Amino acid sequence: MTDKPDTGLQTSANVDADEISRFDRVADHWWDPEGDFRPLHDINPLRADYIEQRTGGVAGRRVLDVGCGGGLLAEAMAVRGADVLGIDMSAVAIQVAQGHAQQAGLDSVRYRQLPVEELEEDQFEVITCLEMLEHVPDPEAIIQQCAQRLQPGGHLILSTINRNLLSYTTAILGAEYLLRLIPRGTHDYGKLIRPSELADWCRKAGLALHDQRGIAYNPLLRTQRLTDSVSVNYLMHFTLEA
Ligand code: SAH
Repeated sequence: MTDKPDTGLQTSANVDADEISRFDRVADHWWDPEGDFRPLHDINPLRADYIEQRTGGVAGRRVLDVGCGGGLLAEAMAVRGADVLGIDMSAVAIQVAQGHAQQAGLDSVRYRQLPVEELEEDQFEVITCLEMLEHVPDPEAIIQQCAQRLQPGGHLILSTINRNLLSYTTAILGAEYLLRLIPRGTHDYGKLIRPSELADWCRKAGLALHDQRGIAYNPLLRTQRLTDSVSVNYLMHFTLEA
């Protein structure tokens, strides 16, 4: 017997319960464009366009969004015509996401509180997992699980934060301490991921790398654009080898 509350979290070893509690506490802010998730709101159109361009368009396709949070990206893809399933381990984020989609009258997006390991559906044409891998104990295992749920030739789009002095200065010192853009403790330096590490894990899971792009975001001017420098926040596009 355990005296832990039955949150479902103990069903998967690859979930950091402290991270999920932290995301539960701020989940009310998911859809506030000036709140704790402001940077994600600001970069959301850019990353949705990137996914659109790299996959040849998500319209009419089965898409899985792993670690969907309040549904910012999942909704953006549903609006572009995709049939989206969003999964996340934060029960509060899932409630917020469901409520928002309902209010928006979007019926092409569904949400479930579930770790990817327990998802029985597979053969997705596109899987996205953005800004989530740096919050789990074993990101390589998440990638393997995503690869298993892709159809041959299917697309995997990942994004995370690089691990170096510049990303520490910008994404942790700058965003959490100086500008107070996002809550302190959001990112743990040791869990940030180098592009070479991500590419290596994906290669081992049978995924071929096609593209990598940095996201240059200026929180003061609120401008964002894709760049060739992957030194801080970056996106990567893979396909599952047939
Ligand atoms: N992908 C979204 C949210 C990023 S925030 C976006 O970019 O807009 C990171 C999210 O990952 C949080 O909602 C958190 O609850 C979720 N998360 C953390 N660990 C997880 C896990 N093991 N499985 C599923 N979701 C997880």
